[in-house]
Amino acid sequence: MANYFDDNDDLQYYFDKGIDWGPLVRATERDLAGGEAGAASLAETVDGYRQMAQMVGTFVAQDVAPAGLVVDREGIHLDKGEAVVPKRMQAIFDQIKALDLHWLCVPRELGGMNSPLLLYFINTELFARADVSITAHHSFHGGIALAMLIFSIREGSTEFDGATITKTRFQDAIEEVARGDAWGTMCITEPDAGSDMAALRTVGEQDEHGNWFVTGQKIFITSGHGKYHFVIARTEPATGHGADDPLAGLGGLSFFLVPAWHEDEHGRRHRTVTIDRIEEKLGHHGSCTTALTFDRSPAFLLGQRGEGFKYMLTLMNNARLGVGFESLGVCEAAYRMARDYAAQRPSMGKTIDRHEMVADMLDEMRTDIQAIRALAMYGGYHEELATKYELFASRIGGKGELETKQLERRAKQHKANARRVTPLLKYLAAEKAVEMARRNMQIHGGNGYMQEYGAEKLLRDALVMPVYEGTSQIQSLMAMKDALGAIMKAPQEFVKRLAQARWRSLSARDPLERRVAKLQHLALDAQQFLVRKTATDKFRSLSDKPLSQWRHAFLEDWNPKRDFAYAMLHAERLTRMLTDVAVCEILLEQSRKHPERADVLRRYLVRAEPRCRHLLDEIQTTGAELLAKLQDDRPAANAAE
Ligand SMILES: Cc1cc2nc3c(=O)[nH]c(=O)nc-3n(C[C@H](O)[C@H](O)[C@H](O)COP(=O)(O)OP(=O)(O)OC[C@H]3O[C@@H](n4cnc5c(N)ncnc54)[C@H](O)[C@@H]3O)c2cc1C
Repeated sequence: MANYFDDNDDLQYYFDKGIDWGPLVRATERDLAGGEAGAASLAETVDGYRQMAQMVGTFVAQDVAPAGLVVDREGIHLDKGEAVVPKRMQAIFDQIKALDLHWLCVPRELGGMNSPLLLYFINTELFARADVSITAHHSFHGGIALAMLIFSIREGSTEFDGATITKTRFQDAIEEVARGDAWGTMCITEPDAGSDMAALRTVGEQDEHGNWFVTGQKIFITSGHGKYHFVIARTEPATGHGADDPLAGLGGLSFFLVPAWHEDEHGRRHRTVTIDRIEEKLGHHGSCTTALTFDRSPAFLLGQRGEGFKYMLTLMNNARLGVGFESLGVCEAAYRMARDYAAQRPSMGKTIDRHEMVADMLDEMRTDIQAIRALAMYGGYHEELATKYELFASRIGGKGELETKQLERRAKQHKANARRVTPLLKYLAAEKAVEMARRNMQIHGGNGYMQEYGAEKLLRDALVMPVYEGTSQIQSLMAMKDALGAIMKAPQEFVKRLAQARWRSLSARDPLERRVAKLQHLALDAQQFLVRKTATDKFRSLSDKPLSQWRHAFLEDWNPKRDFAYAMLHAERLTRMLTDVAVCEILLEQSRKHPERADVLRRYLVRAEPRCRHLLDEIQTTGAELLAKLQDDRPAANAAE
């Protein structure tokens, strides 16, 4: 019987050895003292998780995967203002409901299964291997229910008895979503504001009785035929450092939960959010992508006004990790389809998987999938612990001040780990999903271009991965900003890291550690070069200014549009290097504990080493001409800066 969990050795590795389940189970059971409350034993609990993943592995292989092509062909359409989904799609969601899968991570006291979010993410990979658009809709159920709970805990509207939840603000809605009777959305994008969230125009207004209303248009909203919309809207004027500051608009945003309709006593639906249209897309047809109008739609403010960007980041961090796992599923599907086809297709006296170029492609795909999974598991693990420890520390509290401080410290450390890899995961997994789906099609030759094999559908579905939840370029800007910002904040620390990497690259006993250290050194060299170049350019720009202005200009007057152009130009190259380093560090750690993982690291290093050398060369030698041209072509208003 086909099972997407059982047939995957790399996934088994994480379940059996790779994931340190102890802290995750204790945090999920809210048993920080290390006891057994709620969980019979660690081994039994993890076994329960494994059984769940196995059950999902069978379900997606047998029921979801075969439905993919049918759902893709039928798509979703609008009829009298409501979305109509294919029967096959409805049947899958009826089964998901019957399996209680939306309850997976909902706390036990609210009726859920109280599983860790990491298990949900693992299921996301399994689902996405079967069909990524159906997965996208699935994730707007349980993920939204959890978001409602987390936001309520964070704003202080959830009540506890010890560590047990007794009441939470959106309890009815959480239960409705977990039952599978409703789902939600994340509404950010507008016609004139996608990557540039500071340009959002939707507004939130309060009447004299304190009631909130949201007005505006949102586009490209996944699962927008749902009932509960998380909406980001402007409630205050933009803050920031004047017209030059491109991020100024982020300050005045607030976060709302907006129900799309209410029902009267006869069960008739009265919409307060209108579906304008269902977007016609290249692929991803099982996912209902909508344009929505909010016209003084009654809304609930979450947290404090002006905190919208902060709240949205919580949702987005998890969503980006989720897209990492979705993309991993797409990669796995592409690789297996390509491998199986290549193994049986003869050409010039042998099957095509024996031809060097095809064998090379397949080998790289296999290794990259293991790299992406390493990043994904690491990111998911640390983000979950960071969130849980942070919520315990701020809302439930440890047993004493000391314990609370410990929790805060741990939350900070896990957060730093998650923050580092989240944009790298989103970047790598999404870009590789496209690359692998494209290779799969290529390996299928002419058959790949035909509908019946499913390779062209996989490519159409994959193409959205580097776009939604923040494009690859936006992920790169975030990764670059964090890396270079850390150097500027603590230059001594950077110098130390550089020296350590150099020392380990020469003297570490383990040859693999030496190679990883060399890679780290290359990435640090790239960062050093970008910081130096930024500082030199800044000095150069001061040459026609009076000396008395230099101190202020150099220490306080930094403008992202003007001063970081060179670093921004190379942000994607730097991100690829940072990704290679992060993957190798995680794999090195694994291979220290489990020697069989050294093979994965070795295979990855073989490709990462020449790639990073080349990227460093590109960063150091290209782009000056283009930047000069951009500078010369500046519109007059900017040129006057
Ligand atoms: C199928 C689908 C589902 C979606 N689901 C949702 C959803 O549920 N909720 C939601 O709110 N949105 C959703 N989106 C919207 C998606 O998040 C945006 O499309 C995405 O953030 C990019 O925004 P944009 O389309 O406005 O492109 P733009 O922001 O206009 O970007 C266009 C190009 O310019 C690049 N670019 C922009 N700014 C910079 C910069 N500073 N530096 C370098 N390059 C830059 C981008 O990387 C991109 O390549 C969805 C989109 C699709 C296609």
